[in-house]
Amino acid sequence: MLALVIHSAGDLRVEEVPTAAVGPRQLKVRVTRGGICGSDLHYYQHGGFGTVRVVEPMVLGHEIAGVIEDVGPDNSAFKVGQRIAVSPSWPCGQCRYCQMGLQNHCLDMRYFGSAMRRPHVQGAFRQEIVVEAHQAHLLSDDITDGEGAMAEPFAVALHAVQRAGPLLGKKVLVTGCGPIGALLVIAARRAGAAQIVVTDMGDFPLRKAKQVGADEAINIATQPEQLAKYSADKGSFDVLLEASGNDRALRGAFDVLRPRGVIVQVGLGGEMSLPINTIVAKEFDLRGAFRFHEEFAVAVELINKGLVDVKPLISASLPFRDAGRAFALAADRTQAMKVQFDFA
Ligand code: ZN
Repeated sequence: MLALVIHSAGDLRVEEVPTAAVGPRQLKVRVTRGGICGSDLHYYQHGGFGTVRVVEPMVLGHEIAGVIEDVGPDNSAFKVGQRIAVSPSWPCGQCRYCQMGLQNHCLDMRYFGSAMRRPHVQGAFRQEIVVEAHQAHLLSDDITDGEGAMAEPFAVALHAVQRAGPLLGKKVLVTGCGPIGALLVIAARRAGAAQIVVTDMGDFPLRKAKQVGADEAINIATQPEQLAKYSADKGSFDVLLEASGNDRALRGAFDVLRPRGVIVQVGLGGEMSLPINTIVAKEFDLRGAFRFHEEFAVAVELINKGLVDVKPLISASLPFRDAGRAFALAADRTQAMKVQFDFA
C-alpha cells in the first residue's frame, strides 16, 4: 500500500507503508479523497511551522473520505462498502480535558499527520488506513467523497464560529479568504450572521467567498478604502473571524470592529505584535480557536443534508502520484482553493 511520506522540506515521496491489522472497534478504510491543508503545505515547503518540525518520516494528510473495506469485532454500527468521512482527531477520552469536554485540548491527542508529538502521528494520505470506529461518519448517497473530505476543514470553521458566540443578526468580518476563510463565511451565514464582509489580497479567493455567500468582498491591497468606510462610530462589525494568520490583517481590522467586539483568531502564523492599548480601550474580546471536536459530526450532517454547499471550494482533484503538481497548485492562490488527492 502506497502513501505520501514527508522526509524533510521539499522531500515528499510515494512510499510503500504497511497497513495495521484491524482490531476491535476499528475499521479498515480504502481512502478515496484527501484534501491538502495549509499545514500539509507548511510541512512540504518548510518542514513544519513555528516550533513544530518534521524530524522523522511522516505520512501527511488529515482531510479524508473513503470506503469501509473491513470491520473489526464489536462494531455493529458499520458495514463493508459504506462511504465515510474520517475525523483525524483521536483524543484519549481519559485525561482531565477530555473529561471536561475539551477534547481538542487532550493531553494525549493523536491527530493524523501531525508532527506535534514524537513519534509523529502518521497521516492519512495513503491508499488504506485503519481508524477507530468513533472517527468514522457515514456519508449520504447524495454527496461526493470530495465533499465528505471537506468535513474536516469545515469542522474547524464551525468550531471558530462556536468560539465567537451567537451570530444571529451580527455583522461579521472575515479576514483571509483561503479555504478556511471561505468556510467561515458558510458557517457564519448558517449561524445567522446578518452581514458578512471578507477581505483578502487576492481577487480569486474573494470571488470564491462571494460564491459561497459573502455579502461583500474587499481586496485590501487594491481598495483599502472599501474597508475604511466601516470605521465610522468606532467601528461597525460585531465579530472578527481572523483566518489569515497575518498580524497586519488583524491590526487593520481593529478600526472597524466596534467596542466590545469579539475577535476569533483562527489563522496560524508567526509571532504577532498587537496594539494592546486598543484592545484595552475598545474592550475587545480576543479568543483563539484550535481544531474542533463535536463539530466534526455537525459538519458531516450539514453537508449530508445539503444545508451547506462546499463544492465551489473544491478546485481540483489530482492523482496522489502527482503530489508535487498538486502541492504547487494548492499554493497558487490565483487559481486554487482546496486541492484534493485522488487515491483510487
Ligand atoms: Zn484526553
